[in-house]
Amino acid sequence: MPRQFFVGGNFKMNGVGESLTNIVNNLNSAELDPNTEVVVAPPTLYLQLVRQAANEKIGVSAQNVFDKPNGAFTGEVSVEQLKDLNIKWTLIGHSERRVILKEDDNFVARKTKSAIDGGLSVILCIGESLEEREANQTIDVVTRQLRAVAQSITKEQWSKVVIAYEPIWAIGTGKVATTEQAQEVHAAIREWLKTDISPEVAENTRIIYGGSVSEKNCRDLAKEADVDGFLVGGASLKPAFVEIVNSRV
Ligand code: PGA
Repeated sequence: MPRQFFVGGNFKMNGVGESLTNIVNNLNSAELDPNTEVVVAPPTLYLQLVRQAANEKIGVSAQNVFDKPNGAFTGEVSVEQLKDLNIKWTLIGHSERRVILKEDDNFVARKTKSAIDGGLSVILCIGESLEEREANQTIDVVTRQLRAVAQSITKEQWSKVVIAYEPIWAIGTGKVATTEQAQEVHAAIREWLKTDISPEVAENTRIIYGGSVSEKNCRDLAKEADVDGFLVGGASLKPAFVEIVNSRV
């Protein structure tokens, strides 16, 4: 079975009730490619509003989750609380959390494990900085980030993971990776999954690209063999998100 195309919208810390409702209403009334899985990630505070406003074809994701079931963890949100609101997905390891909030590979791996153990699916974000790319460390960095997760989850649990390759230098900068750059890293990730996890996991895992994806560049990127979709930031807040969802039709 071919991998289902996947487009995620990461709203980050943007929007309030009215603007988020408008975005969701726009998605509800748009003609979205039925072959594409669409998942939007609003700020935590608006998960419930977006889950209630969005039609059932649209998945809703948290932007983060904690790795402990409950207790004295001020400001954090648990897997159980997300599931209570009928939220089935979470982002984990976004570079803004890795860089600004100092989340390391092990913390990302622990959170991925507890999210999946608790029944969520995970959009696992990985990617190199500009410095690392210029030092030819891209593949080392992304495989190091993946290895931490691989040491925490079982082979079967990879079916609950979508890998988002997001080069940090491309996020929010307007500087999208070229189709060749994206394909090269996606193919290397798939090869790593094949040798370090299993050929089956390599074949079935969606590897999506993120970093300045727009309605202008999505169609070319979507043609690459190992690009199985997108994680979209800025453009997910605009009507153009629909064009990105439909980049294969
Ligand atoms: P961007 O963000 O599309 O605004 O570059 C992507 C992301 O951070 O997921």
